[in-house]
Amino acid sequence: MKLIDVGVNLLHASFDANREKVIADAENVGVSPLIITGSSIADSKKARDYAAGTAGKCYATVGIHPHNAKTYTSSAIKILREMAHFPEVGAIGECGLDYNRNFSPPAMQRECFEGHIALAAELQLPLFLHERDAFDDFYAALVRNRTKITRMVVHCFTGTAEQLSHYLDLGCYIGITGWVCDERRGTHLAPLLKTIPRDRLLLETDAPFLVPRTLPEKPRYNEPKYLPHIASAVAAILKTDAETVAVETFRNSLTFFGIDEKRTV
Ligand SMILES: [Zn+2]
Repeated sequence: MKLIDVGVNLLHASFDANREKVIADAENVGVSPLIITGSSIADSKKARDYAAGTAGKCYATVGIHPHNAKTYTSSAIKILREMAHFPEVGAIGECGLDYNRNFSPPAMQRECFEGHIALAAELQLPLFLHERDAFDDFYAALVRNRTKITRMVVHCFTGTAEQLSHYLDLGCYIGITGWVCDERRGTHLAPLLKTIPRDRLLLETDAPFLVPRTLPEKPRYNEPKYLPHIASAVAAILKTDAETVAVETFRNSLTFFGIDEKRTV
């Protein structure tokens, strides 16, 4: 089985002691390459630099998470633009809106998000998107800019049927995590998953967060090596086999991030 984890917070402190082992363990179960999520200027730079040293085992996104939007300045986009020119960078993000706890003021989040959309449009790079408790403003921004954006993925989708259908109408890819394995919060996703066109489904762990609750072991934190478990859960919901889900989502990931398959050995 070959899978691509499209959302790994690989520079997170949880992995400081064993980052290379985390990559190797994932590779041993067919999960490679990993797409490292950038969430601030400093973090995106680290992600890009780290990916550059892995000879195609990792790629990176570069962007400012809405939690960090208060750090957004006009020079931020200039720095992100310079970083985004490197071949290891697969998308602009993670970016978007998160009004759940408003770690950054909503107005600043919107300004930061618009800056990222404009940059993705300018560079013709896909967008790696985050939305929480901010659907109306988030969706409106995507609608305003839909013709300029090449591809976009709503990562860690946990929303409603109505939101999903709006995203699909806009042509979004949908990122599914181990949330589908959560019998308390994730069961509403099962019928929704069946409505996602199979060429727009992407899989991600969001490691070290979101440990799939149905894992036989109970690890302290999530790792990309658990992505096959998520693929199996998705396959069971779609009434197909995990290998089919792997083949389809692998191909979708290559297309989405523009990764040349020859580089992903
Ligand atoms: Zn996110």
